[in-house]
Amino acid sequence: MPMPRRRASRQPNSMVLPDFLAPQDDELVFSLVARYAQQTCWPGTSALLETLFGERHIVASYDLPGRLSALSERSPPELSLNAGALLHAHTLFEYLTATASPRQRAAAGEACIEGGGASHVGLGLAASRVARIYRLRFCPECVAVDERQAGASWWRRQHQLPGAFVCLTHGCSLRESAVDLRSMSRHTFLAAGPQACRADAQDMGGTDGAIMALARVEVRTLLGTVPWTLDATAVVERLRAVGLMRSWRRVDQELLRSRFAARFGHLRDLLPDVLSAEAMDIWLPQLARTQRRSLHPLYHSLMMAFLEGEEVVVTKFTAPFGTGPWKCRNPLADHFGQPVVTDLRVVANHGGQIGRFVCSCGYVYARGRSAGGDIGHPVYSSYGPLLGPALRGLIAQGESLRSISRAVSLDPKTVISEMARLGIEGVWGMSGSRRRPWAAPALCGAKVSVSRSRARRGRLDWDAIDAAMAEQALAAASTILSVDPAQRVTLPAIERELGRPGYLQKRLMRLPETGSVVRKAVEDASQFRTRRIRSYLASHPEMRQPWRVARALGIKGDDLALVRAAMNQHIL
Ligand SMILES: [Zn+2]
Ligand SMILES: [Zn+2]
Repeated sequence: MPMPRRRASRQPNSMVLPDFLAPQDDELVFSLVARYAQQTCWPGTSALLETLFGERHIVASYDLPGRLSALSERSPPELSLNAGALLHAHTLFEYLTATASPRQRAAAGEACIEGGGASHVGLGLAASRVARIYRLRFCPECVAVDERQAGASWWRRQHQLPGAFVCLTHGCSLRESAVDLRSMSRHTFLAAGPQACRADAQDMGGTDGAIMALARVEVRTLLGTVPWTLDATAVVERLRAVGLMRSWRRVDQELLRSRFAARFGHLRDLLPDVLSAEAMDIWLPQLARTQRRSLHPLYHSLMMAFLEGEEVVVTKFTAPFGTGPWKCRNPLADHFGQPVVTDLRVVANHGGQIGRFVCSCGYVYARGRSAGGDIGHPVYSSYGPLLGPALRGLIAQGESLRSISRAVSLDPKTVISEMARLGIEGVWGMSGSRRRPWAAPALCGAKVSVSRSRARRGRLDWDAIDAAMAEQALAAASTILSVDPAQRVTLPAIERELGRPGYLQKRLMRLPETGSVVRKAVEDASQFRTRRIRSYLASHPEMRQPWRVARALGIKGDDLALVRAAMNQHIL
């Protein structure tokens, strides 16, 4: 993250205030200045601000204060208070910029370090329903300990997050300051003394599981230790895992809403603008879509706290092919037929899914699952390292193509193309032989009669070939869709993936089901371009400017509109 550079050198030593205080643990700059003012009994606010910040009209902001570089220049060198350290460890900058764009974040950092402070408007937070806190919060236990050990208490960052209502150190409810910051001069730094932190202040709320979970996520966001990024893809993945999807792609908004309300609805009094029925109808669906606009970090915290607390369940959407492990279908492996495959990759496909089962022995096969839930036959995808030696051995033994084909459970054509791929010389000539068994269009698993001559071709079971070929074409299309960088799905590309260039083109008349699969799968140029843009956006959620995306993808001119459209559309 590019941050504004600090001033290269310190100003003359005459500006240094030898009695300036070291900040306490998690203390706000706002609190540090207030403690300093109290301790030194400075004659007037303007003079104090002039001395500390080199400017008398600085606004006393508790979350995103300004002129941190001026303050750091005036602190004694032994405290090593550089402006960056003040910004990251003693303001709410890290929390409030957690969902901002890199540009917004850099501008806010610059405003805090060199300018007069950053604003919620600049970060796009002013429009959110999350109200800024005007009564700072304190923990009565912390205050007691601070006064005993340090002589005075201070405002902690972790207590001023909009979703923090408990002290995570003491597990007790926070309380609100008696002083409303709006009732004071904009230039006054309020200390966490007995006037603000009154002993008779009421607890803000309880300390139940939901309140604790929310506070933990809020603090993690502040400290930058959130374990997963909350982009739309991650949210949908989690929603799938906890059984909140209506289909592979569609969120069950109603169920999400009711399960969320069941866990967090009782906090409505603490967060009325965020947890009202009307508000939840807006931001909950927004978070599960691609975010065009960054939402306030509090929404992210609520969603994270919710998702982390939900139980992971097995549904047809979390486990479209059952829970596994699945059988290995490699006849050359010792574990053939045993449930040893644990690596299943699922991609969406025309309302259904395609699963690629990757075994540790290298063997990969695919199965389709239709929108109706029917699971198709396994389709061979690739073999792994056991095939080459086996083929060489069988050929050395003088086995026929047909018996080799049976031994490795591949149709003869695939055996030949695998041999070509592995650089293995066959003993069967492509011409000159009267019997050409490798030309048989028999397919794995399909009941087809083997063509021995052109005259008997009419007896082929085209229905069986069509069914098997349709499945293979579907698997091939899904393989192409999962290639990175993106590749366009075309008929020749599918044929190449099948290892049969030109095969389908000539036979589509006889293969109606395959034809329909292929027609649905192939993309025209603009569909492909849109998919490419979307897949790029999905892996680069930080990209917010169309021209940058266009440049990264080498897209020019009128197609910029396509980028814009893709960015505006919901990917899901
Ligand atoms: Zn405490
Ligand atoms: Zn295996």
